[in-house]
Amino acid sequence: MIILDGKQTANGIKAELAARVDQLVKDAKRPPHLAAILVGNDGGSLTYVGSKVRSCERIGYESTLIHLPEETTEAEILQQINNLNSNAAIDGFIVQLPLPKHIDEEIVLMAIDPHKDVDGFHPTNFGKMALDMESFIPATPYGIMELLRRYQIDISGKHAVVIGRSHIVGRPMSILFSRKSSPGNATVTLTHSRTKNLPAITKEADIVVSALGVPNFLKEDMVKESAIIIDVGITRVPDSTHPKGYVIKGDVDYEGVKDKASFITPVPGGVGPMTIAMLLQNTFLAYSRHLGV
Ligand code: NAD
Repeated sequence: MIILDGKQTANGIKAELAARVDQLVKDAKRPPHLAAILVGNDGGSLTYVGSKVRSCERIGYESTLIHLPEETTEAEILQQINNLNSNAAIDGFIVQLPLPKHIDEEIVLMAIDPHKDVDGFHPTNFGKMALDMESFIPATPYGIMELLRRYQIDISGKHAVVIGRSHIVGRPMSILFSRKSSPGNATVTLTHSRTKNLPAITKEADIVVSALGVPNFLKEDMVKESAIIIDVGITRVPDSTHPKGYVIKGDVDYEGVKDKASFITPVPGGVGPMTIAMLLQNTFLAYSRHLGV
């Protein structure tokens, strides 16, 4: 079994980006600039946005965090988005999800200029992705593709089973796996909460991507020998013995599954760090297109 080390791979990608930024600065060009809008004080969101901002700083990007109170209205968020859309100093920006319940997520995401939509959630980018056109690819599935590519794992002709059909992970993952490209060309089954007899389906899989958010969901008896296991799940499970009061758990029963798998991602240190690296990669792409460099 080989552990797919997302942390090390992401560090490699960040080092490559940092070297490109160094070169830009030497050439008297400004660095890429990523902005993030965060509404409210959800603990997970604060952590994610914080690490995105810190990662920008470490590789020499500019970053701007717009932290708005929980009671911010939809109109006020849309105003912030308009400002970022028209601000030539910003190459790309994200709106951290989830948004408070009184905000319509769809309206907000639709307001982002597709050229600055480095999360790849706008229908223009999502549609382009589905049509094999160049676009911003959502960072989590993009990170999984990049991890497979860097470990030279060929999924062509293999049966890939994706658990979860969310717009940010499962659905785009199923599209990317089935694309006529490398990695890609897989035969894909997209499963979800209404899927009947899921274990029978996962047991047939050469590669399983689990993105449902239920700790230890994928057990040893649900996977076949030598399967490739990608664990997207991140759930905070209360644990009084830990200083933070919780531990992070993936969807996969790692101890049970690891010896059966040919490749497996750990949690933490697998898909999570790759997601941030690919957001930075998308921001570099936005910068290059924006400035024509
Ligand atoms: P979501 O809650 O939007 O969607 C969950 C999906 O799982 C749904 O499509 C649902 O149909 C499916 N599902 C629920 N119960 C199921 C069951 N019993 N059997 C089969 N399918 C079932 O989730 P999301 O936003 O895609 O996130 C999924 C998990 O991935 C969460 O733990 C989240 O924190 C994590 N996540 C991690 C990263 C990362 O960078 N590693 C990024 C995004 C999300």
